[in-house]
Amino acid sequence: MPNTVLYDDGNHRNVLLEDFGLGGLAVQANQHMIVHGGSGMILDPGGHKVYSKVLTETFSVLGKAKLRYIFLSHQDPDIVAAVNGWLMTTDADAYISKLWMRFVPHFGFDHLVADRLKPIPDEGMVFDLEGARLLVLPAHFLHSEGNFQIYDPIAKILYSGDLDASLGMNYICVSDFDAHIPYMEGFHRRYMASNKVMKAWANMVRGLDIETIVPQHGAYFKGKKMVQRFIDWCADLECGVDLIEPLFKIPAA
Ligand code: FE
Repeated sequence: MPNTVLYDDGNHRNVLLEDFGLGGLAVQANQHMIVHGGSGMILDPGGHKVYSKVLTETFSVLGKAKLRYIFLSHQDPDIVAAVNGWLMTTDADAYISKLWMRFVPHFGFDHLVADRLKPIPDEGMVFDLEGARLLVLPAHFLHSEGNFQIYDPIAKILYSGDLDASLGMNYICVSDFDAHIPYMEGFHRRYMASNKVMKAWANMVRGLDIETIVPQHGAYFKGKKMVQRFIDWCADLECGVDLIEPLFKIPAA
């Protein structure tokens, strides 16, 4: 499928890169770019399998713009594994939760670029992309202990990372919320930490003006109605430690 432009006002562009992960053993993953004026940012660039293709595509989307930030929502390999290559081939700084700073070098890290991996504090931060202020929202335990999402107030897009992930359907934009639930329910029940944290997240994002929620895996929600339904669904979902107790039994020998 071709790149999907989620927003474009001439100076500010949000692009969902063509899916390079479909069909293999690796989980399908979306790569996202935000370009504002002459500066760009890539979100969750992915692992080695997609590295060269995503890199090429990134430069073509950037055009004359320069890559400024590499945002790593959390520590999983489908996000972080190729970060050394990204740092070696661009001048961008990479940002990840301070909790994961000492783990990322295990993917292999050149000393040359080590000081360009930077920590995000627990309370989040703001990226300044040539004057566009992109909010880094705390989304801890959804699913990773040190996890962040990006809210872009110009495009009114929330980049939700693994929250809102769905697997197995053949569409990229959700048109029927109820029909979409089976594609995301199992993942959310097992990976997301608890209803308490889902509710905390829902309360936080209800304070934002959101038109689109896009995940790192699977289909996205467009329009206020869909966004509202997803947030409500999260706030009501039992998951993670709410459900895990019955599994704690010693396996039969
Ligand atoms: Fe993950």
